Amino acid sequence: MDFDMTIVNTTMENLKKRQFDPHFVATKEEVLPLLETMVPAGCTVANGGSVTLGQTGVIDWLKNGDFNYLAPAPDSTAEEKKAMMRKRFFADVFLLSANAIISDGRIVNEDGASTRVAPMIYGPDKVIIVAGVNKIVQTMGQANARIKYVAPINCKKIGFETPCTEDGKCHDCFHHQRSCCTSAVLNFSRIPDRITVILVGEELGV
Ligand code: SF4
Repeated sequence: MDFDMTIVNTTMENLKKRQFDPHFVATKEEVLPLLETMVPAGCTVANGGSVTLGQTGVIDWLKNGDFNYLAPAPDSTAEEKKAMMRKRFFADVFLLSANAIISDGRIVNEDGASTRVAPMIYGPDKVIIVAGVNKIVQTMGQANARIKYVAPINCKKIGFETPCTEDGKCHDCFHHQRSCCTSAVLNFSRIPDRITVILVGEELGV
């Protein structure tokens, strides 16, 4: 995809000011070699649900690598799944993507059960966000618009029956399967470099 490297550089400068740790790679093939320098073998890892992590091969790498990978088995009971989700707060490294990264350096994620945003905010010593440059926006309004573009697609994919699956529009619903329950904005990392952001010069994710 065509993108403006000036905006990427501005975003990286602003991420740095907020004590995040930004990196840029040109292609999705460069993500794993970079991660290999950041995630030591033998450590405990987990990830939030993410199309981007699938496209970049990160989920397979976590599953099959020399890691203690924390993820519920497909046949887990609800209680087992809950126990596993709680364990993930103690992962050494937690990986996810972002719904939007504002060029002023703020990182925006929306979540339903909040199992993705909760360990991002607190718990794991290291958090790594992988995002295509298509996730960079200029304003919070554009970040929210991205979220409301993505949510109906994800709800439909999962098989939810929220009203947005009918027409692709947000109805600010009170449906029990609502996917937009928690809006998490990372404004600053009090622990310097706890949160690494790998921007990839390609269109990734939804
Ligand atoms: S609030 Fe409800 S209707 Fe709106 S996008 Fe989220 S799930 Fe869909």
